[in-house]
Amino acid sequence: MNDRAPLPATLVERLRAIVGDRGLITGASDLEPYAVDWRGQFRGRAALLVRPASTGEMSRVVALLSQAGVGMVPQAGNTSLCGASVPDASGAQVIVNVSRMNRVRAVDLENDTITVEAGCILAELQRVAAESDRFFPLSLAAEGSCEVGGNISTNAGGTQVLRYGNMREQVLGLEVVLPDGRVWDGLRGLRKDNTGYDLKHLFIGAEGTLGIVTAAVLKLYPKPRAVATALAAVADPAAAVALLGRMRAACGERVTGFELVSRLCLDLVLANIPGSRDPFGQPHPWYALVELFDSAEGGGLATMLEEALGAAAEEGLVADAVVAASESQRQELWALRENISDAQKVEGYSVKHDVSVPVSRTVELVAEADSALRAAFPGIRIVAFGHLGDGNLHYNAFPPPARANDTAAWSLEVNKLVYDIVHRLGGSISAEHGIGALKRDELPHYKAALELDLMRAIKGVLDPRGIMNPGKVLRP
Ligand code: ZN
Repeated sequence: MNDRAPLPATLVERLRAIVGDRGLITGASDLEPYAVDWRGQFRGRAALLVRPASTGEMSRVVALLSQAGVGMVPQAGNTSLCGASVPDASGAQVIVNVSRMNRVRAVDLENDTITVEAGCILAELQRVAAESDRFFPLSLAAEGSCEVGGNISTNAGGTQVLRYGNMREQVLGLEVVLPDGRVWDGLRGLRKDNTGYDLKHLFIGAEGTLGIVTAAVLKLYPKPRAVATALAAVADPAAAVALLGRMRAACGERVTGFELVSRLCLDLVLANIPGSRDPFGQPHPWYALVELFDSAEGGGLATMLEEALGAAAEEGLVADAVVAASESQRQELWALRENISDAQKVEGYSVKHDVSVPVSRTVELVAEADSALRAAFPGIRIVAFGHLGDGNLHYNAFPPPARANDTAAWSLEVNKLVYDIVHRLGGSISAEHGIGALKRDELPHYKAALELDLMRAIKGVLDPRGIMNPGKVLRP
């Protein structure tokens, strides 16, 4: 179909016959919020939005759109940070939204699994797990509105990956509607299954380019019974990496979160987020937020944390530390970390990176990227923070005044400097957020040609007509 042509009226009526009036959004102004991404960087235009209420409806909708050759954009909570879940500007693509498929289908306590549909909000999944005296560990800033289908399609990370792994590690089985409308029922709750290729992994992190995830069997864990949290002041990232090693040696698998925060990040939060407070009497150059979970009852966790930090202080690794004495103090410490993005937003445009390197190379990453950027762009402000325990940093920067009106070109120059260093250190240009539309054209510079060939081959088998999330991850 050509670029600006609306969908044929007969096709719209056939979709309506499948999903009913509640399942369609057709008005231009009603469609707008679904066609713009969370950061407002990608503003597309959709032909319409269709939201099936069941796997059967989804299958029929996708088959119909596939036969008509219409490009489909799978969408869950639409909190993508790389433009993966919004249509392009052609006005010809249909958003296929999973939000009405939000049921918890089953909880199996003996198997420690939960079966949920793709539109289930992450916080709701966490709540149902807690009600069942279990724990679902994926935790991230958007958890109040992001949905499981998106978490799976982006292999979401967050703040507890160090202990529990990414979303990929939580998935035991998937149900997927393929680009031709066939349903793959892979909803098996098995922890062991060696019967050939493990197909579910193709769809995890595929950003909706290979099919639409409609449901999943996910792992549940024992509920944490004790938690201890501290903010430690450290001199530099090298001290933070050393502290991570000491904490794991002293506290073992209890180390659940280990976040790095630079002083500029804390300054931004203190300046821009009302009610924020520096827990220390004086500024320090860097901080590590450390959290321990224990699923066994009983005291001792805070003492264990204090003793480990005390030993690290004696070694000279920690300059000062505060251990949360209550849940509200814990929340205050986490707010200093979690409000960094919002605090950054208040100060205007910044270029954002979501990069990873081996933990052992994070110190080099910060040192080399800092010096390259400061040399190239005097006056740049670097906002470095993130999941140090995973080697994943959100390495962001505000433009220097001289480039404040030229941010599009400037950000490409910054990307190249940062990504080249990341690549040389054996890292990834996207640790958490994915490729989407934002990094698609940069990917070929940093991914081996052979890997891209294999990705295209898989795309060609599952979606030979290129109608499933066209233009995302790979060039059409
Ligand atoms: Zn993150």
